[in-house]
Amino acid sequence: MDLLKTLVDKGLRRELPTRDEALAVLATSDDDLLDVVAAAGRVRRQWFGRRVKLNYLVNLKSGLCPEDCSYCSQRLGSEAEILKYTWLKPEDASKAAAAGVAGGAKRVCLVASGRGPTDRDVDRVSQTIEAIKETNEGVEVCACLGLLSDGQAERLRAAGADAYNHNLNTSEGTYGDITSTHTYADRVDTVQKAHAAGLSACSGLIAGMGESDEDLVDVVFALRELDPDSVPVNFLIPFEGTPLAKEWNLTPQRALRILAMVRFVCPDVEVRLAGGREVHLRSLQPLALHLANSIFLGDYLTSEGQAGQADLDMIADAGFEVEGTDQVTLPEHRVEGGCAPCGDSGGSACATPEPRTEARTDLVAMRRRGAGTDLAPNA
Ligand code: SF4
Repeated sequence: MDLLKTLVDKGLRRELPTRDEALAVLATSDDDLLDVVAAAGRVRRQWFGRRVKLNYLVNLKSGLCPEDCSYCSQRLGSEAEILKYTWLKPEDASKAAAAGVAGGAKRVCLVASGRGPTDRDVDRVSQTIEAIKETNEGVEVCACLGLLSDGQAERLRAAGADAYNHNLNTSEGTYGDITSTHTYADRVDTVQKAHAAGLSACSGLIAGMGESDEDLVDVVFALRELDPDSVPVNFLIPFEGTPLAKEWNLTPQRALRILAMVRFVCPDVEVRLAGGREVHLRSLQPLALHLANSIFLGDYLTSEGQAGQADLDMIADAGFEVEGTDQVTLPEHRVEGGCAPCGDSGGSACATPEPRTEARTDLVAMRRRGAGTDLAPNA
């Protein structure tokens, strides 16, 4: 297929595809799926070999959020039966992080629900970062605390944070349909603050919220423009008790096409397979390793992931290797701070996902172990 040849050539040169090309990836048929995966896999291997970076989530504060993000089980008014607790003590968070590191994680992601941290919260998280770094040599720590005020990114950096995550989630055009309590511009501002403070920026998306192909391409092109080092690709987990509970509109094939499109648009960036991979990719998860070079190990913020050992087995069986702390994740040119020039845009037809309306509660298990409980974590 000429399209795939063009996209591979551009990916190997870190050149931005056109919007039409990105849309065409999303519109490919299931007959072409393995060709699409193989083509994007070539780009992935050029920049990241067969390495898979493992990341581990620690939910520092769960639920009770005043914001209304429709996709989130921790939102204002959520009736999802999640664990709810306030800030973990630094020693408890450090213990949870150590379990992930022992399981093979190279990065620990410290996440707290809420609009954004107070200065006291930043103190608290700073103590947690110091505790984690003291006991886990070489571990990378990413904070994900919501919208940042002036000076907070610098304080987190000074405390030892390596990265800051704040996702754009969806296109600017549809952001207002998903959340009313903050704006897309607020989110962009926080990613830029993190970047400016010398933190490695991590910003991604959530697919499957009823968006069009154009929306997906918009958000991925916006991410390329922001130039984060890592792009988590989440697939909506339609939690019962949230407004998007009935949005079961992803298939494993579509999830793979979305990941391939992200790889072609952000060829040399850490593309991280994030929440919803087990739920939506199911038995096709190993194919996604040819597209993403990074995954979360263990459980998610409020739901359970597959067993940590199952992830390690999957990586080995698919012929990939877990990235060690002595290996640098990003290609040399990115570590040195360079980035590829951006290209142009266009428009095209889109593929309509197969709609599903019935809930798949059989696929989503609420987290009842690890951080905030007395039970051992999954790592
Ligand atoms: S995504 Fe964050 S800010 Fe939005 S409702 Fe969930 S916890 Fe709150």
